Amino acid sequence: MIYDVIVIGAGSMGIAAGYNLAKAGKHILMLDAFDPPHDDGSHHGETRIIRFAYGEGASYVPFVKRAGELWRDLETLSNESLFLQTGVVNVGEPTSSFIQNVRTSAKLYDLALEQYSAIEAMKKWPGLSLPGNFVACFEPTAGVLRVEACIHAYKKLAIEAGATLHTNEKVQNIIAGDIVRIQTTHKVYEAKHLIVTAGAWTTELLQTMDITIPVTPTRKTFAWFEAEEQLYHENVFPAYCFELADSLYYGFPSIDGAGLKLGRHDGGETINPNDPLRPFDEQDAIDLQNFINRFMPQHGALKFGKTCKYSMTPDEDFIIDFLPDHKNIVIAAGFSGHGFKFSSAVGEALADLTLNGESNQDLSLFQLSRFN
Ligand SMILES: Cc1cc2nc3c(=O)[nH]c(=O)nc-3n(C[C@H](O)[C@H](O)[C@H](O)COP(=O)(O)OP(=O)(O)OC[C@H]3O[C@@H](n4cnc5c(N)ncnc54)[C@H](O)[C@@H]3O)c2cc1C
Repeated sequence: MIYDVIVIGAGSMGIAAGYNLAKAGKHILMLDAFDPPHDDGSHHGETRIIRFAYGEGASYVPFVKRAGELWRDLETLSNESLFLQTGVVNVGEPTSSFIQNVRTSAKLYDLALEQYSAIEAMKKWPGLSLPGNFVACFEPTAGVLRVEACIHAYKKLAIEAGATLHTNEKVQNIIAGDIVRIQTTHKVYEAKHLIVTAGAWTTELLQTMDITIPVTPTRKTFAWFEAEEQLYHENVFPAYCFELADSLYYGFPSIDGAGLKLGRHDGGETINPNDPLRPFDEQDAIDLQNFINRFMPQHGALKFGKTCKYSMTPDEDFIIDFLPDHKNIVIAAGFSGHGFKFSSAVGEALADLTLNGESNQDLSLFQLSRFN
């Protein structure tokens, strides 16, 4: 049997692509080394921020706006609550590139953005403590996606639409051609088109085709702290992104009584994605504690920490493109720690690239050739 499309990796991006292709009536097979959602890739930990006034650059705004529409559609289709409109506050010195990009994005695309001095922000959110030279740009329409629930919802709808999903079946080898052959731990499958969305394993997988892409798997940590609900509950405290002089932190209000969640975006050590991650340790705790003691000093004790994988590109922009010389293979990788919010729109774009050879979205920022 020859499938229309095989998707390798049914995580954040792959499951959304699989849903879009099955909905289009295509005969599709999704293969995953684990059983998504799972804790071995990049999509666990309960929550992901979605913000539209984009600190990484205004060129992302149309894509993330489309993603926002598609998350709303997914909520309706699945009858699940996936998005919490907590708002997101972006904090830093007014000269920081992140804050400047947030402001430019909001201005160019007419997005709601409330701007506060440090004193005003501390009055609005008494759980915050900010130095006088900081500003806070609050995006009230932004918020939080329930990450595992989003993947569950796409998985259910994809299977209902006719997609086949094989879990716990790792792809070992890709043999390109007019018909692509995929060797897994179980057997060989064939398809007219291939989508590679293997997250932190994408570099390793493409090496089986002698193709090297600059995507580096990286260990990341995050943690939850006890929080007084009056100050930090999701109804009174937003999700947050801080750009400091030499670091970037992000986090979440206390959602469903879970406590304040905090992670560091920059840094992290290069890993082999097949090795178990070094568990959350004392040094990880100290780093997060230093941040939270300074900016949310009324937090309580650290509850627990976890580890996760980022897939970093050198410029931290994504890769969404055909493989050179293989017009029936599309890859989406290198989401560099800010990709989940886009995954609904990436899934749509991957289906369009595969079926029509093009997408309505401007994907020029994500071309593989920029690394040549
Ligand atoms: C701690 C943390 C916090 C984050 N916070 C945010 C945030 O607030 N907002 C945001 O937008 N983004 C955030 N991100 C980033 C976002 O979660 C990722 O960019 C996104 O999940 C990447 O999706 P992916 O599909 O590339 O990878 P994954 O979701 O990991 O999917 C890849 C899948 O491929 C499978 N696979 C790999 N190799 C093979 C193989 N050989 N055969 C078969 N299957 C295979 C894996 O099992 C996995 O299921 C965060 C990430 C982390 C780790």
